Amino acid sequence: MKCLKCKSNQVSTLDSRSLEKGNSIRRRRICNVCGQRWSTYELPKTMVDFYEEQMERLFELEQFQMASSVYKGGSGKAKGTAWTKSETDRLIAMYFEQQPLREIAEALSRSYMSINKRLCYLRKNGKLKIS
Ligand SMILES: [Zn+2]
Repeated sequence: MKCLKCKSNQVSTLDSRSLEKGNSIRRRRICNVCGQRWSTYELPKTMVDFYEEQMERLFELEQFQMASSVYKGGSGKAKGTAWTKSETDRLIAMYFEQQPLREIAEALSRSYMSINKRLCYLRKNGKLKIS
């Protein structure tokens, strides 16, 4: 794993902790070069598959709802609202607790699309590691 900030390979793990259901692990990382700290999460591949399938279905549903104009535009936030750190942390926590996406979207007042995009982004940035 490389440092997110300076891309150095000199990264240490501060601590590892099993999350609630015991099938995922959270690690605190620190860069030995620039001191950047962040967390990574590891989860089983089956869980990722589970979410990807749900995500696809919800996305289709959302597209359908928008097309048939019964869609009320989620419950609040406008499209493209920036994610705060606490929202991101909540998303990650709920994701690892295997909460249904519908509930995650409701709890964060965001659309499935928005949740989906954020999870893809987190994955790309190495915040969600698949083991
Ligand atoms: Zn660094």
